[in-house]
Amino acid sequence: MGYENWEKALVENVETTISWRRHLHEHPEPSFEEWNTRAFIAEKLKSFGYEEIEEGVGGGGIVAYLRGSKPGPVIGFRADFDALRIHEETGLPFASKNPGVMHACGHDGHTAGLLSVAKVMKQYEAELSGTVKFIFQHAEEVLPGGGKSMVDAGVLEDVDYIYGLHLRSPLEYGKVTYCSGYAMAAPDFFEIKIQGKGGHAAYPHATVDSVVVASYVVNQLQSIISRQKDPKKSGVLTFSTFKAGDGANNVIADTALLKGTVRTFAPEVRDLIEEKISTMTKQICEAHDATCEVQYTRGYPALYNHEAETALIADLFTETFGEETVEETPLRMGGEDFAYFLQEKPGSFFFVNSGNAEKGIVYPHHHPKFDFDERALLLGGKCFLSIIDHYLTEKETSKAEASVTVG
Ligand code: MN
Repeated sequence: MGYENWEKALVENVETTISWRRHLHEHPEPSFEEWNTRAFIAEKLKSFGYEEIEEGVGGGGIVAYLRGSKPGPVIGFRADFDALRIHEETGLPFASKNPGVMHACGHDGHTAGLLSVAKVMKQYEAELSGTVKFIFQHAEEVLPGGGKSMVDAGVLEDVDYIYGLHLRSPLEYGKVTYCSGYAMAAPDFFEIKIQGKGGHAAYPHATVDSVVVASYVVNQLQSIISRQKDPKKSGVLTFSTFKAGDGANNVIADTALLKGTVRTFAPEVRDLIEEKISTMTKQICEAHDATCEVQYTRGYPALYNHEAETALIADLFTETFGEETVEETPLRMGGEDFAYFLQEKPGSFFFVNSGNAEKGIVYPHHHPKFDFDERALLLGGKCFLSIIDHYLTEKETSKAEASVTVG
């Protein structure tokens, strides 16, 4: 009965899980265009015996319900399934057959791993007190993302707790990690166009030098981080693009283009940086007789893991896998649209390390040589099983607990 049997069935399904992962990896589709991937997921769910399936949720999401025989909480599990516009260079036998598109973030693994949990648990649904809602999400990688539209479509309305995982390469396989509170940043983007007045390089007084003005902007905007923001709260401002001039030595550039990203956690820090980028840039340009256009685009919100649910999974995973396997991880500056799910319902987003130095799995996410250790599929699946076991198995009151109650 219970977890041991589920785990055994999950282990028995490992080869199949890996074959699904490799199939998805070989046929990646970019965000919002995952037509065959969506069909694959729906077809698999039907083949496992799921009848209650919703497709096109929030545009391209797929949802399946596993209903226990007794009432209980509704637990949501989310996996994303989109790929990136990256040309794969892994040389793997199951490398992408779609040139310029690659599963370089491990979403193929998230989906194959969760499908395996769905398949296995379908055989045991009568044992459960409550419901598991499997949520497969399209378009995590590209704004506005599929997460928000699924939440807006009401995907979490009947859900009590929501959980999800991300593989993490190249951190060495063998650990599951958690992070309470802010865990991933809000990734915002900005673009600044500075309009000066071009002219002869020998006569600067007759021009407005957009290179000089843009340089002041790059330098002075860093003081938002060092002098304006509360130093106890994280924030990063990076200029990733600086374009001006056409390669001439004797021409003052008419315009300059700056692009960059802002990463924050606390909403007030985000608001401050957004506002200051705009006002300071305008004032600097004004001081130097240039004009500017500032465009600031908000990405996903910061991902906040609820304290109680994070403490719960930390305990559950430690019980299941032992202390040596479970670790706390510091917050990261990357973004993730699971943040929208956690704004709506309590839950936690955890990480399964998936690097393997010996096998050459040493590249980070979004790298053309990214890969993950497929053992992480099983470990991640077991994490979901332990969460199901916690919420949806009726526990007999242990003798120790009973005596405490009596005492
Ligand atoms: Mn990802």
